[in-house]
Amino acid sequence: MHEMSLAVALMEEINAIASQNQVERIQEVELHIGVLKQVVPVVMQEAFNAASIGTPAEGALLKQVAIDAQASCRSCKNIFTPEPDNFLCPVCGQGLIDILKGEEFILQSLTCES
Ligand SMILES: [Zn+2]
Repeated sequence: MHEMSLAVALMEEINAIASQNQVERIQEVELHIGVLKQVVPVVMQEAFNAASIGTPAEGALLKQVAIDAQASCRSCKNIFTPEPDNFLCPVCGQGLIDILKGEEFILQSLTCES
């Protein structure tokens, strides 16, 4: 369950931001998560709940925004949407691709009580 390690790392980031800005309570956390991360939203929510206990983000609303995958083929320069289990270029069938989007795990915003 790699969601838990993601949630723990996320909480470290949130804690650092909260202490820098002297925030005691966070209301909402918005995450942008690339689909290639294979994060299961329900599991992420549970991991977030567990990891946030005792932190300023405890009880905060977790908003998860999925970022679609995008890749470019090195052979024919085609831009396409890879599936998590199929990274072959649909035009030329080659597997030499560069991932452009879809591997994000970004803390996009925090909404705080003031
Ligand atoms: Zn191609």
